[in-house]
Amino acid sequence: MLWMAHGLESAPTQRFVFVEKQMGADFRIVLYAKEAKFAKAAAKAAFDEVKRLNAIFSDYEAESELSLLSANSGKGKKLSVSEDLWTVLSAAQCLSTQTDGAFDVTVGPCVRLWRIARFRKTLPAVDKIAAAKLAMGYQKLLLYPEAKKVQLKDQNMILDLGGIAKGYAADKMLEILKEKGMLSVLVDAGGDLALGDAPPNKKGWRIEIGGRKHPDLPVLELANCAVATSGDIEQFVEVDGERYSHIIDPRTGIGLTARLQVTVVAPSGMQADSLASALTVFGPEEGRLLIKKLSGVESYFVQGHAADRTLTRIKAE
Ligand code: ADP
Ligand code: MG
Repeated sequence: MLWMAHGLESAPTQRFVFVEKQMGADFRIVLYAKEAKFAKAAAKAAFDEVKRLNAIFSDYEAESELSLLSANSGKGKKLSVSEDLWTVLSAAQCLSTQTDGAFDVTVGPCVRLWRIARFRKTLPAVDKIAAAKLAMGYQKLLLYPEAKKVQLKDQNMILDLGGIAKGYAADKMLEILKEKGMLSVLVDAGGDLALGDAPPNKKGWRIEIGGRKHPDLPVLELANCAVATSGDIEQFVEVDGERYSHIIDPRTGIGLTARLQVTVVAPSGMQADSLASALTVFGPEEGRLLIKKLSGVESYFVQGHAADRTLTRIKAE
């Protein structure tokens, strides 16, 4: 017995990587542990958690809690929601207020139009955008904190948590992995990262701002925080030489064309994810005003093409 315990203690720490498709993206867990058996069990529990969350947050699945909420828009009903949905909707509304609606989870009707536009490679019709805009607006998403109830005031509203749910999922996965005793952990929820302790004998996890495509951009060494990247560099529709992103400016209903990538370092994944989306809509000038009001947040704006790319770093006081 004694020998066994001793043997376990001196077992070398190994690096484990687990990958799964979740929430329509590649999710990855990197962790350091002594025993494969425990590493695997912890990763499985974390992936089970994402599946549970997807059944709440998905706007694809007609039976998700979110879809049922959207299906009841304009019916005058206040619906009770789960703790997870409440947390995410409250945080989203808070950011909508702070950004005067640049971040807005009621953007669903427009997101759908632009999704079709990407598929067909043509822009949405002007009248369709106008109609979609009528069914949007965070002021029409009513939250009742005492009862944790939610009401969508107008008809045809569609909630879309694409800009915040993956960050929240990353936080919850990290929480589960820690509960299972895994401390040196990186969770990559399709580009939204939640970081635990650094890898053994390292200061932090190496996070490349530009990824493999832009190796000239800074590399950060981070631990116990979250990192998210948003931008119109990867998902877009190109029409007449103009690229329209999957991130929409709710004020115009149009996909962004600025060619901007924003990376945010923040205390939580939910905050990093949603802020990265909001700051992509804002750009660095308007973004600076918002960041200065926050704490523990750092952001990197990458603009322009390869040859004349500019990097702006903005940090909260
Ligand atoms: P990614 O999904 O590529 O990680 P983001 O985190 O920036 O990128 O989220 C983009 C998604 O957020 C869109 O696909 C859409 O579902 C949703 N979205 C688009 N525009 C907005 C907006 N202005 N506010 C909130 N969510 C948005
Ligand atoms: Mg985001």
